[in-house]
Amino acid sequence: MTSTSDYQALSFLVVDDDDLMRRQVELVLNQLGIEQVTLLADGQSALHKIIQEETYDVLILDLNMPSIDGIEVIRHLAEAEYDGAIALFSGEDARILKAAESLANAHNLYVLGSLSKPVTADAIESLLNQFKPRDDITRRGSIEKVSPGELADAIARRQIQPFYQPKVRATDKSIASVEVLARWIGDDGGMIPPIAFIPVAEEHDLIDDLTIIVVEHAFEQLGKWRAQGYEFSLGVNISADSLDNVDFPEKLGDIATRNSVPCSSIVLEITESRLMQNLTTSLDVLTRLRLKGFGLSIDDFGTGYSSMDQLKTIPFTELKIDRSFVHGIIDDPAAFAILESSADLAKKLNLTIVAEGVEDQADWDVVVKVGCDLIQGYFIAKPMSGGEFERWVLDWERGNT
Ligand code: C2E
Ligand code: CA
Ligand code: CA
Repeated sequence: MTSTSDYQALSFLVVDDDDLMRRQVELVLNQLGIEQVTLLADGQSALHKIIQEETYDVLILDLNMPSIDGIEVIRHLAEAEYDGAIALFSGEDARILKAAESLANAHNLYVLGSLSKPVTADAIESLLNQFKPRDDITRRGSIEKVSPGELADAIARRQIQPFYQPKVRATDKSIASVEVLARWIGDDGGMIPPIAFIPVAEEHDLIDDLTIIVVEHAFEQLGKWRAQGYEFSLGVNISADSLDNVDFPEKLGDIATRNSVPCSSIVLEITESRLMQNLTTSLDVLTRLRLKGFGLSIDDFGTGYSSMDQLKTIPFTELKIDRSFVHGIIDDPAAFAILESSADLAKKLNLTIVAEGVEDQADWDVVVKVGCDLIQGYFIAKPMSGGEFERWVLDWERGNT
């Protein structure tokens, strides 16, 4: 949401036991031209209203309230599958607000962010700039999972399409690589995000077929781009489940050969949290992939629990720091400490360091400062279809020379 007039139409529920605070928030909202504001003094009546199907676009929730506190309200909202946006606010220190935010996120609630007291118009405005209408949101909880039958059908009909998102070099912003992200384009032209179908594919033994389709498309595309003189590499997401299949390296190698792309121009991104489940076979497969020349990236670094062990055992070439340690890092000292030490560690291990989820200049500045080599995120570009990506490359190169 970008323009002021867009958010003036939103409805707000403000819950705080402090009468003065409620009025203050109302005043600030009115200053921003927002008129639909409901004020309530306690969590119980807020829950009551919400559960009775009153809908609000944004709930501003105080954490410290006497009868039922903000954390309890969050739990009940999650149980009620509340799908409006939530902004938390409190006079407590920033760490407590962050913890409450993480908790709400973990409950799959739609958290806009947090506000410290007293609330200012600027703070509310910057929160609302991130507001997206409900149908745009791809939250885990709100996504309806597809059925395995539908997915198998979509794979057979090749409705799974590759989208591309660039990673650029921190030094000169040149394009180093492009990550392939799967999208399911339905019969009506609508787009289903991977979070709705990748887990289904993994659960129902469809992930290898899906990966092969994405890989065939993307390697063919990379072959064409290389023939046009582009030298960027390609990042492909590989589910840990595919590492149980000892034929996988040969299959991938064959597709690369068929499309005249060297394996060394491909980086396989593997999510660390699921890696170690069948260590012996995974290690066999990963080592043979590496022998063929494929790069190996440890994806979402920092979110799995056995990352250190995996770094020691598996011949990774790249480390991708999870976006939870990247976006908004400037205001989050704990996340910054993790980002900085992950980058140091990667440097010592001679790995290419990628920061994902860079959404603004502030994020960019911090990740460059800690020594990330490659940068990816909405600040540079969103994932795009092959055609859009080609147009984007031309624009980007024009702007960068
Ligand atoms: P991932 O590998 O961590 O991919 C990055 C995700 O972050 C993508 O979501 C991307 O669109 C999103 N993203 C990129 N930049 C930003 C940013 O600046 N801010 C924010 N908030 N998000 C950003 P997407 O495309 O929805 O993919 C979600 C996940 O689905 C991927 O996470 C990956 O784990 C999985 N996935 C996608 N395609 C495939 C595939 O072909 N095979 C497998 N196995 N998994 C896939
Ligand atoms: Ca990835
Ligand atoms: Ca990630």
